[in-house]
Amino acid sequence: APWIAKVLTLYPEMFPGPLGHSLAGRGMVNNLWQLEAVQIRDFATDKHRTVDDSPFGGGAGMVMRPDVLDAALEATLSAGLAPLVMTPRGRMLNQDRVRDLAAGPGVVVLCGRFEGIDQRVIEARGLEEVSIGDYVLSGGETAALTLIDACVRLIPGVMGSEATLDEESFEEGLLEYPHFTRPADWNGRPVPDILLSGHHERIRAWRLAEARRITADRRPDLWARYCTRHGAGSH
Ligand code: SAM
Repeated sequence: APWIAKVLTLYPEMFPGPLGHSLAGRGMVNNLWQLEAVQIRDFATDKHRTVDDSPFGGGAGMVMRPDVLDAALEATLSAGLAPLVMTPRGRMLNQDRVRDLAAGPGVVVLCGRFEGIDQRVIEARGLEEVSIGDYVLSGGETAALTLIDACVRLIPGVMGSEATLDEESFEEGLLEYPHFTRPADWNGRPVPDILLSGHHERIRAWRLAEARRITADRRPDLWARYCTRHGAGSH
């Protein structure tokens, strides 16, 4: 069965957007995954199709109504699909969570707009709050696209050669080693000799050493976790 992404949004025309192109787009054509964008406004009940209202307690902006969102979720949630809501307050998305979501049947993703979403519907529906980083977007749609992109590329058959997946950033808990291609000398900058040696075992060791060095240097948080997972050999 194809992996399923259902997105609840006020802007369904933003989908599939970039995910209709390149490998993800090909994967969709080949029915390896499916995307359905659901217009939240279709579940409003008044003649103006209202989806938001001013916040109780005062303050700027508007809040998305729980009753309208609940009706949209009722029509969209289905057994097995992970129920998610994009919000800067959520647990920060990482490759471990992406791998779990990609391994399951799919996701239902609620995209916020305005100041956000009435808290009660998040709790009533048990939505998992997911953030893509410590910054504020204008809406959940680009966050949902990011999450779905990260999942879709892990679906078997979507990437051309699946071998490239295991060596990437985060798959080993390390940032990636640097890449080089032709020309071997560019503007007086030669590629590291070892990469021209044809010595596969030494090249592998060099790449691992680089990945470790870069991770320790740039991301002490990831490095500490890697050292815990891999034990003493990681210095
Ligand atoms: N008032 C909110 C706050 O201060 O945290 C910001 C709301 S933001 C303008 C509108 C919507 O964009 C949010 O409801 C959420 O769906 C989405 N969004 C914004 N930043 C995000 C992030 N870093 N990760 C995931 N979703 C985000």
